[in-house]
Amino acid sequence: MSHGIVTAAYIVAAIMFILSLAGLSHQESAKRGCYLGIAGMTIALLATVFSQDAHGLGWVILAMIIGGAVGLYQAKKVEMTQMPELIAMLHSFVGLAAVLVGFNSYIYPIDVAYDMHTIHLVEVFLGVFIGAVTFTGSLVAWGKLNGKIASKPLVLPNRHLLNLGALVVSLLLLFWFVGVGGSTFALVVMTIIALAFGYHLVASIGGADMPVVISMLNSYSGWAAAAAGFMLNNDLLIVTGALVGSSGAILSYIMCQAMNRKFLSVIGGGFGSDPVASSSDEAPAGEIQEIKPEAVADMLKNASSVIITPGYGMAVAHAQNAVASLTNKLRAQGVNVRFGIHPVAGRLPGHMNVLLAEAKVPYDIVLEMDEINDDFPETDVVLVIGANDTVNPAAVTDPGSPIAGMPVLHVWEAQNVIVFKRSMKSGYAGVDNPLFYNENTKMCFGDAKATLEEVDKYV
Ligand code: NDP
Repeated sequence: MSHGIVTAAYIVAAIMFILSLAGLSHQESAKRGCYLGIAGMTIALLATVFSQDAHGLGWVILAMIIGGAVGLYQAKKVEMTQMPELIAMLHSFVGLAAVLVGFNSYIYPIDVAYDMHTIHLVEVFLGVFIGAVTFTGSLVAWGKLNGKIASKPLVLPNRHLLNLGALVVSLLLLFWFVGVGGSTFALVVMTIIALAFGYHLVASIGGADMPVVISMLNSYSGWAAAAAGFMLNNDLLIVTGALVGSSGAILSYIMCQAMNRKFLSVIGGGFGSDPVASSSDEAPAGEIQEIKPEAVADMLKNASSVIITPGYGMAVAHAQNAVASLTNKLRAQGVNVRFGIHPVAGRLPGHMNVLLAEAKVPYDIVLEMDEINDDFPETDVVLVIGANDTVNPAAVTDPGSPIAGMPVLHVWEAQNVIVFKRSMKSGYAGVDNPLFYNENTKMCFGDAKATLEEVDKYV
């Protein structure tokens, strides 16, 4: 394929990526967005692999077959609840690829004019740095999401100074690297520092800030890809990387606003999460009240307004169809049923919306937290289904709580609250929940799908 055709194909692919992002911003058009993304990526791959500059076609095709087969197998096998882990793992691949491209491009530099040599060295150094941070950071995020690494923040003494030190030393190494016209020693030392920096950055972020970390690593992986694009002189990789990098940064900002966290504090490695003198050291005390599914059904039949607040447990239990069926029955009996969705409920942005859409719950009764939070005092019954951190009143009442200041669903203001979960265990942030001990709260223990199906029988 000639250069002209490759450039034209890249422009078409870039437009498709932009249209794909636009499609993904609404539930109704998300599928179209996915198809446009797939089409754009197919065009981009074909144009790159068959361009006249490409060499070793046999190796490339072999690598694509192996990679494609592993990817297809993983994507088919993955549970919806494991999606964030998979995404974190894929981000780590982008980071690793940028590191490898960087080293490769340093060892076998592409032909650049003499005055471009310095720019090329800067590209290599920055590409390897961003790639290495993304690589280890994403691996830690993967470990924290699947429970292999504790979600509690790692608090090393002088951790902010350590981060700052890593940045300053890396900057000095950059000047040296460029000043001497390339130094393997400087590149290797910086890579080791960047790997440790990425590990520390994510390890020191607490459980409740993980949503921001995921979208932030998404953004980093975009910048790593863009850096690889500069090193390889590939315009499409630069455009695609910049699209991912900037959309990830915007998502991180939106998530920060939803969690009432400062963006710079979170990406600075949990800055601001230093413990405050806290009453949360004491576990909430009091008696809990249990309720059986039959009694829940009676309560629901007598209610005129019900709000359902789902969380991660609904996804684990695959309870969305049971929830949808109960909702339909109650609505048929004239009960006003609505859903309140917390922006970080579940384990990935939009997790609950996707599950409820899959179970065919009408969009118009699924409301965002801000749209429904004032309605709880006029609500007869709230069903908390596998949610915990997102309905924790300690975020409002206990300034020492690790989730203090995070906006939550004010479920406790309703007349009655029924919590569906299996035990008294805490949620992702590892924080006790005083909601369970309130006088108007009753606990319906068991797997959410099984208990809801039981409730459904009696309604
Ligand atoms: P939580 O993680 O706070 O709590 C989920 C609850 O579900 C647990 O307390 C658990 O209790 C219960 N549960 C688990 N399995 C079942 C089951 N089979 N049946 C019934 N209940 C079950 O969930 P939330 O959605 O309220 O909060 C999300 C948390 O995840 C927040 O801290 C958020 O910051 C974090 N997070 C969110 C991300 C995002 O992008 N949305 C990404 C990463 C983290 P038990 O074990 O007793 O059953």
